[in-house]
Amino acid sequence: MKAAILEKAGQPLVIDDLTVSKPGPHEVLIRTAACGLCHSDLHFIEGTYPHAMPAVPGHEAAGIVEAVGSEVRTVKVGDAVVTCLSAYCGHCEFCVTGRMALCLGGDTRRAAGDAPRLTRSSDGSTVNQMLNLSAFAEMMLVHEHACVAINPDMPLDRAAVIGCAVTTGAGAVFNACKVTPGETVAVVGCGGVGLATINAARIAGAGRIIAADPMPEKRELAKKLGATDVIDALDPDAAKQIVELTKGGVDHAIEAVGRPASANLAVATLRRGGTATILGMMPLNEKVGLAAMDLLSGKKLQGAIMGANRFPVDLPRLVDFYMRGLLDLDTIIAERIPLSGINEGFEKMKAGHTARSVIVFE
Ligand SMILES: [Zn+2]
Ligand SMILES: [Zn+2]
Repeated sequence: MKAAILEKAGQPLVIDDLTVSKPGPHEVLIRTAACGLCHSDLHFIEGTYPHAMPAVPGHEAAGIVEAVGSEVRTVKVGDAVVTCLSAYCGHCEFCVTGRMALCLGGDTRRAAGDAPRLTRSSDGSTVNQMLNLSAFAEMMLVHEHACVAINPDMPLDRAAVIGCAVTTGAGAVFNACKVTPGETVAVVGCGGVGLATINAARIAGAGRIIAADPMPEKRELAKKLGATDVIDALDPDAAKQIVELTKGGVDHAIEAVGRPASANLAVATLRRGGTATILGMMPLNEKVGLAAMDLLSGKKLQGAIMGANRFPVDLPRLVDFYMRGLLDLDTIIAERIPLSGINEGFEKMKAGHTARSVIVFE
Protein backbone atom coordinates (compact mmCIF):
# COMPACT_ATOMS: atom_id res chain seq x y z
CA MET A 1 0.00 0.00 0.00
CA LYS A 2 0.98 3.62 -0.45
CA ALA A 3 1.64 5.65 2.69
CA ALA A 4 3.07 9.06 3.61
CA ILE A 5 6.17 8.49 5.73
CA LEU A 6 7.86 10.91 8.09
CA GLU A 7 11.52 9.88 7.84
CA LYS A 8 12.76 12.66 10.10
CA ALA A 9 11.16 15.60 11.91
CA GLY A 10 11.46 18.80 9.93
CA GLN A 11 11.43 17.08 6.55
CA PRO A 12 8.54 16.75 4.08
CA LEU A 13 6.64 13.46 4.11
CA VAL A 14 7.67 10.87 1.52
CA ILE A 15 5.17 8.62 -0.29
CA ASP A 16 6.43 5.03 -0.38
CA ASP A 17 5.14 1.43 -0.52
CA LEU A 18 4.56 -0.28 2.82
CA THR A 19 3.40 -3.75 3.75
CA VAL A 20 0.80 -3.97 6.48
CA SER A 21 0.67 -7.16 8.57
CA LYS A 22 -2.39 -9.37 9.09
CA PRO A 23 -4.81 -8.53 11.93
CA GLY A 24 -3.93 -9.98 15.34
CA PRO A 25 -6.81 -11.39 17.47
CA HIS A 26 -8.13 -7.96 18.54
CA GLU A 27 -7.13 -6.00 15.45
CA VAL A 28 -9.10 -4.57 12.56
CA LEU A 29 -7.75 -3.98 9.04
CA ILE A 30 -9.40 -0.95 7.48
CA ARG A 31 -9.28 0.31 3.88
CA THR A 32 -8.83 4.05 4.43
CA ALA A 33 -11.37 6.21 2.60
CA ALA A 34 -10.37 9.63 3.90
CA CYS A 35 -8.09 11.24 6.47
CA GLY A 36 -8.05 14.83 7.71
CA LEU A 37 -4.87 16.84 8.23
CA CYS A 38 -4.69 17.77 11.91
CA HIS A 39 -2.53 20.31 13.70
CA SER A 40 -1.26 17.58 16.02
CA ASP A 41 0.26 15.82 13.00
CA LEU A 42 2.14 19.02 12.30
CA HIS A 43 3.58 19.02 15.84
CA PHE A 44 5.17 15.64 15.14
CA ILE A 45 6.20 16.57 11.59
CA GLU A 46 7.92 19.73 12.84
CA GLY A 47 9.42 17.93 15.86
CA THR A 48 7.66 19.98 18.59
CA TYR A 49 6.48 16.66 20.04
CA PRO A 50 8.85 13.68 19.93
CA HIS A 51 8.16 10.34 18.19
CA ALA A 52 10.15 7.31 17.04
CA MET A 53 11.12 7.60 13.33
CA PRO A 54 10.42 6.69 10.62
CA ALA A 55 6.66 6.82 11.18
CA VAL A 56 3.38 7.25 9.35
CA PRO A 57 1.31 10.10 10.85
CA GLY A 58 -2.42 10.65 10.34
CA HIS A 59 -5.15 9.94 12.90
CA GLU A 60 -8.41 11.50 11.68
CA ALA A 61 -9.78 8.83 9.40
CA ALA A 62 -12.74 6.87 8.16
CA GLY A 63 -12.85 3.74 6.04
CA ILE A 64 -14.34 0.31 5.43
CA VAL A 65 -13.43 -2.78 7.43
CA GLU A 66 -11.48 -5.19 5.21
CA ALA A 67 -10.66 -7.95 7.73
CA VAL A 68 -10.96 -8.59 11.46
CA GLY A 69 -8.99 -10.67 13.99
CA SER A 70 -10.42 -13.83 15.56
CA GLU A 71 -11.61 -12.11 18.77
CA VAL A 72 -13.12 -8.96 17.27
CA ARG A 73 -16.84 -8.62 18.05
CA THR A 74 -17.45 -4.85 17.82
CA VAL A 75 -17.13 -4.43 14.02
CA LYS A 76 -17.37 -6.75 11.03
CA VAL A 77 -16.10 -6.87 7.44
CA GLY A 78 -17.82 -4.23 5.31
CA ASP A 79 -18.69 -1.88 8.18
CA ALA A 80 -18.08 1.83 7.72
CA VAL A 81 -15.91 2.96 10.63
CA VAL A 82 -14.33 6.09 12.05
CA THR A 83 -11.04 5.73 13.91
CA CYS A 84 -10.12 7.54 17.10
CA LEU A 85 -6.72 7.90 18.74
CA SER A 86 -8.37 7.54 22.16
CA ALA A 87 -7.92 3.74 22.17
CA TYR A 88 -9.28 2.46 25.50
CA CYS A 89 -8.49 -0.73 27.40
CA GLY A 90 -11.91 -1.05 29.04
CA HIS A 91 -10.75 -2.10 32.50
CA CYS A 92 -8.42 0.54 33.98
CA GLU A 93 -9.35 3.11 36.62
CA PHE A 94 -10.20 5.72 33.95
CA CYS A 95 -12.28 3.42 31.75
CA VAL A 96 -14.39 2.05 34.60
CA THR A 97 -15.06 5.55 35.94
CA GLY A 98 -16.26 6.77 32.54
CA ARG A 99 -13.21 8.84 31.64
CA MET A 100 -12.08 6.75 28.70
CA ALA A 101 -10.21 9.58 27.00
CA LEU A 102 -7.73 9.50 29.90
CA CYS A 103 -7.00 5.78 29.40
CA LEU A 104 -3.43 5.17 28.35
CA GLY A 105 -4.62 2.31 26.19
CA GLY A 106 -3.03 -0.51 28.16
CA ASP A 107 -2.84 -3.65 26.06
CA THR A 108 -4.51 -1.97 23.06
CA ARG A 109 -1.08 -0.51 22.32
CA ARG A 110 0.41 -3.96 21.94
CA ALA A 111 -2.42 -5.84 20.33
CA ALA A 112 -0.07 -8.19 18.53
CA GLY A 113 2.93 -8.19 20.83
CA ASP A 114 6.02 -6.44 19.58
CA ALA A 115 5.78 -7.55 15.95
CA PRO A 116 5.95 -4.54 13.60
CA ARG A 117 2.61 -3.65 12.05
CA LEU A 118 4.13 -1.72 9.13
CA THR A 119 7.25 -2.59 7.12
CA ARG A 120 8.85 -1.06 4.07
CA SER A 121 8.09 -3.17 1.00
CA SER A 122 11.56 -2.54 -0.47
CA ASP A 123 13.73 -3.80 2.42
CA GLY A 124 11.37 -5.10 5.14
CA SER A 125 12.54 -2.49 7.65
CA THR A 126 10.09 -1.41 10.35
CA VAL A 127 8.10 1.80 10.02
CA ASN A 128 6.48 2.94 13.28
CA GLN A 129 2.77 3.41 13.69
CA MET A 130 1.82 6.80 15.07
CA LEU A 131 -0.91 6.99 17.73
CA ASN A 132 -1.63 3.36 16.79
CA LEU A 133 -3.45 4.51 13.67
CA SER A 134 -1.06 5.73 10.92
CA ALA A 135 -3.92 6.87 8.75
CA PHE A 136 -1.97 8.62 5.96
CA ALA A 137 -1.99 5.22 4.28
CA GLU A 138 -4.28 3.21 2.06
CA MET A 139 -4.80 0.66 4.86
CA MET A 140 -4.84 0.94 8.66
CA LEU A 141 -4.31 -1.86 11.14
CA VAL A 142 -5.83 -0.79 14.46
CA HIS A 143 -7.08 -2.23 17.74
CA GLU A 144 -10.84 -2.84 17.79
CA HIS A 145 -11.04 -0.26 20.62
CA ALA A 146 -9.69 2.43 18.27
CA CYS A 147 -12.61 2.47 15.84
CA VAL A 148 -16.39 2.46 15.86
CA ALA A 149 -18.98 1.47 13.26
CA ILE A 150 -21.20 4.29 11.98
CA ASN A 151 -24.31 4.74 9.86
CA PRO A 152 -23.33 3.37 6.39
CA ASP A 153 -25.14 6.30 4.72
CA MET A 154 -22.62 8.76 6.17
CA PRO A 155 -20.19 10.16 3.52
CA LEU A 156 -16.74 8.97 4.62
CA ASP A 157 -14.82 12.16 3.80
CA ARG A 158 -17.01 14.01 6.27
CA ALA A 159 -16.98 11.12 8.74
CA ALA A 160 -13.17 11.33 8.86
CA VAL A 161 -13.06 14.78 10.49
CA ILE A 162 -15.34 13.53 13.26
CA GLY A 163 -12.45 11.26 14.34
CA CYS A 164 -10.37 14.08 15.86
CA ALA A 165 -11.29 17.74 15.24
CA VAL A 166 -15.04 17.44 15.63
CA THR A 167 -14.90 14.98 18.54
CA THR A 168 -12.51 17.34 20.31
CA GLY A 169 -14.54 20.51 19.73
CA ALA A 170 -17.97 19.00 20.28
CA GLY A 171 -16.71 16.94 23.22
CA ALA A 172 -15.43 20.11 24.90
CA VAL A 173 -18.92 21.59 24.68
CA PHE A 174 -20.99 18.49 25.51
CA ASN A 175 -18.69 16.49 27.81
CA ALA A 176 -16.17 18.82 29.42
CA CYS A 177 -18.16 22.08 29.70
CA LYS A 178 -21.69 20.62 29.66
CA VAL A 179 -22.92 23.88 28.12
CA THR A 180 -26.57 24.51 29.03
CA PRO A 181 -29.05 26.55 26.94
CA GLY A 182 -28.49 30.27 27.25
CA GLU A 183 -24.94 30.12 28.58
CA THR A 184 -22.30 32.22 26.84
CA VAL A 185 -19.33 30.67 25.05
CA ALA A 186 -16.15 32.23 23.65
CA VAL A 187 -14.03 30.19 21.23
CA VAL A 188 -10.43 31.24 20.62
CA GLY A 189 -9.19 29.92 17.27
CA CYS A 190 -11.38 28.99 14.31
CA GLY A 191 -9.55 26.07 12.68
CA GLY A 192 -11.20 22.65 12.43
CA VAL A 193 -11.48 22.19 16.21
CA GLY A 194 -12.63 25.76 16.90
CA LEU A 195 -15.29 25.66 14.18
CA ALA A 196 -16.59 22.33 15.50
CA THR A 197 -16.71 23.88 18.98
CA ILE A 198 -18.77 26.81 17.69
CA ASN A 199 -21.12 24.49 15.82
CA ALA A 200 -21.58 22.28 18.90
CA ALA A 201 -22.23 25.34 21.09
CA ARG A 202 -25.06 26.26 18.73
CA ILE A 203 -26.44 22.69 18.92
CA ALA A 204 -26.25 22.92 22.74
CA GLY A 205 -28.31 26.12 22.66
CA ALA A 206 -25.63 28.52 23.86
CA GLY A 207 -26.96 32.06 24.25
CA ARG A 208 -24.10 34.00 22.77
CA ILE A 209 -21.20 32.45 20.91
CA ILE A 210 -18.20 34.71 20.35
CA ALA A 211 -15.47 33.54 17.97
CA ALA A 212 -11.97 35.01 18.04
CA ASP A 213 -9.47 34.50 15.19
CA PRO A 214 -6.92 36.73 13.45
CA MET A 215 -8.04 35.60 9.95
CA PRO A 216 -11.10 37.42 8.51
CA GLU A 217 -12.03 34.42 6.32
CA LYS A 218 -12.11 32.14 9.35
CA ARG A 219 -14.29 34.62 11.22
CA GLU A 220 -16.75 34.42 8.31
CA LEU A 221 -16.81 30.61 8.58
CA ALA A 222 -17.39 30.98 12.32
CA LYS A 223 -20.49 33.08 11.65
CA LYS A 224 -21.80 30.46 9.26
CA LEU A 225 -21.35 27.77 11.91
CA GLY A 226 -23.17 29.65 14.64
CA ALA A 227 -21.02 32.45 16.07
CA THR A 228 -23.22 35.37 17.10
CA ASP A 229 -20.23 37.73 17.27
CA VAL A 230 -16.69 37.61 15.89
CA ILE A 231 -13.58 39.49 16.94
CA ASP A 232 -9.94 39.72 15.88
CA ALA A 233 -8.03 37.55 18.37
CA LEU A 234 -4.88 39.67 17.91
CA ASP A 235 -6.61 42.95 18.74
CA PRO A 236 -5.03 44.12 22.03
CA ASP A 237 -8.58 44.80 23.26
CA ALA A 238 -9.90 41.32 22.31
CA ALA A 239 -10.59 40.23 25.91
CA LYS A 240 -12.15 43.58 26.79
CA GLN A 241 -14.47 43.38 23.76
CA ILE A 242 -15.70 39.91 24.78
CA VAL A 243 -16.24 41.00 28.40
CA GLU A 244 -18.24 44.02 27.19
CA LEU A 245 -20.31 42.01 24.69
CA THR A 246 -21.34 39.61 27.46
CA LYS A 247 -21.69 42.19 30.25
CA GLY A 248 -19.01 40.69 32.46
CA GLY A 249 -17.47 37.81 30.54
CA VAL A 250 -18.44 34.35 29.30
CA ASP A 251 -19.48 31.22 31.16
CA HIS A 252 -17.19 29.07 29.00
CA ALA A 253 -14.05 30.05 27.11
CA ILE A 254 -12.64 27.32 24.91
CA GLU A 255 -9.14 27.59 23.44
CA ALA A 256 -8.50 25.70 20.21
CA VAL A 257 -5.08 26.91 19.09
CA GLY A 258 -2.33 25.66 21.41
CA ARG A 259 -0.52 28.93 22.13
CA PRO A 260 -0.02 30.50 25.57
CA ALA A 261 -1.34 33.85 24.28
CA SER A 262 -4.63 32.34 23.15
CA ALA A 263 -4.95 30.32 26.38
CA ASN A 264 -4.43 33.54 28.36
CA LEU A 265 -7.02 35.28 26.18
CA ALA A 266 -9.51 32.51 27.03
CA VAL A 267 -8.87 32.99 30.76
CA ALA A 268 -9.19 36.80 30.43
CA THR A 269 -12.68 36.53 28.91
CA LEU A 270 -14.26 34.59 31.82
CA ARG A 271 -17.08 35.96 33.92
CA ARG A 272 -17.24 35.17 37.65
CA GLY A 273 -17.52 31.40 38.07
CA GLY A 274 -16.61 30.78 34.42
CA THR A 275 -14.45 27.95 33.13
CA ALA A 276 -11.63 28.07 30.60
CA THR A 277 -10.99 24.85 28.67
CA ILE A 278 -7.70 24.49 26.83
CA LEU A 279 -7.88 22.09 23.87
CA GLY A 280 -4.80 23.14 21.88
CA MET A 281 -1.48 21.35 22.23
CA MET A 282 0.87 23.99 23.62
CA PRO A 283 4.64 23.46 23.47
CA LEU A 284 5.43 21.10 26.37
CA ASN A 285 7.39 23.66 28.44
CA GLU A 286 4.56 26.24 28.42
CA LYS A 287 2.16 27.03 31.25
CA VAL A 288 -1.18 28.75 31.62
CA GLY A 289 -2.64 29.84 34.96
CA LEU A 290 -5.21 31.70 37.01
CA ALA A 291 -4.43 34.84 39.02
CA ALA A 292 -5.34 35.13 42.71
CA MET A 293 -8.34 37.32 41.84
CA ASP A 294 -9.53 34.76 39.27
CA LEU A 295 -9.56 32.10 41.98
CA LEU A 296 -11.40 34.43 44.38
CA SER A 297 -13.95 34.89 41.59
CA GLY A 298 -14.54 31.14 41.34
CA LYS A 299 -12.98 30.80 37.91
CA LYS A 300 -11.78 27.41 36.73
CA LEU A 301 -9.22 26.14 34.23
CA GLN A 302 -9.24 22.66 32.70
CA GLY A 303 -7.82 20.49 29.98
CA ALA A 304 -10.12 18.27 27.92
CA ILE A 305 -7.94 15.98 25.86
CA MET A 306 -9.75 14.83 22.72
CA GLY A 307 -12.93 16.47 24.04
CA ALA A 308 -13.06 14.10 27.04
CA ASN A 309 -14.72 11.71 24.60
CA ARG A 310 -16.46 8.39 25.08
CA PHE A 311 -15.97 7.88 21.36
CA PRO A 312 -17.94 4.65 20.80
CA VAL A 313 -20.99 6.61 22.01
CA ASP A 314 -20.06 10.12 20.88
CA LEU A 315 -19.03 9.43 17.27
CA PRO A 316 -22.28 7.78 16.12
CA ARG A 317 -24.21 10.64 17.80
CA LEU A 318 -22.16 13.21 15.89
CA VAL A 319 -22.88 11.30 12.67
CA ASP A 320 -26.60 11.57 13.52
CA PHE A 321 -26.22 15.32 14.03
CA TYR A 322 -24.71 15.56 10.54
CA MET A 323 -27.40 13.40 8.94
CA ARG A 324 -30.08 15.60 10.53
CA GLY A 325 -28.44 18.76 9.20
CA LEU A 326 -27.36 20.08 12.61
CA LEU A 327 -23.61 19.50 12.36
CA ASP A 328 -22.17 21.43 9.42
CA LEU A 329 -19.16 19.37 8.38
CA ASP A 330 -19.40 20.68 4.82
CA THR A 331 -18.33 24.13 5.97
CA ILE A 332 -15.56 22.77 8.22
CA ILE A 333 -13.92 20.92 5.31
CA ALA A 334 -12.08 23.43 3.14
CA GLU A 335 -10.72 21.09 0.49
CA ARG A 336 -10.25 17.48 -0.57
CA ILE A 337 -6.77 16.48 -1.75
CA PRO A 338 -5.00 13.30 -2.93
CA LEU A 339 -2.34 11.62 -0.77
CA SER A 340 0.31 13.09 -3.10
CA GLY A 341 -0.82 16.61 -2.07
CA ILE A 342 -0.12 16.04 1.61
CA ASN A 343 2.94 18.31 1.99
CA GLU A 344 1.17 21.16 0.23
CA GLY A 345 -1.78 20.63 2.57
CA PHE A 346 0.44 21.04 5.63
CA GLU A 347 2.05 24.16 4.11
CA LYS A 348 -1.43 25.69 3.85
CA MET A 349 -2.15 24.73 7.46
CA LYS A 350 1.02 26.53 8.56
CA ALA A 351 -0.13 29.65 6.73
CA GLY A 352 -3.36 29.44 8.76
CA HIS A 353 -5.84 30.10 5.98
CA THR A 354 -7.77 26.87 5.56
CA ALA A 355 -10.21 25.24 7.94
CA ARG A 356 -9.64 21.54 7.22
CA SER A 357 -7.98 19.69 4.35
CA VAL A 358 -9.02 16.06 3.90
CA ILE A 359 -7.10 13.44 1.96
CA VAL A 360 -9.45 11.31 -0.10
CA PHE A 361 -8.12 7.92 -1.22
CA GLU A 362 -9.09 6.51 -4.61
ZN1 LIG B 1 -5.94 15.46 15.62
ZN1 LIG C 1 -8.51 1.99 30.22
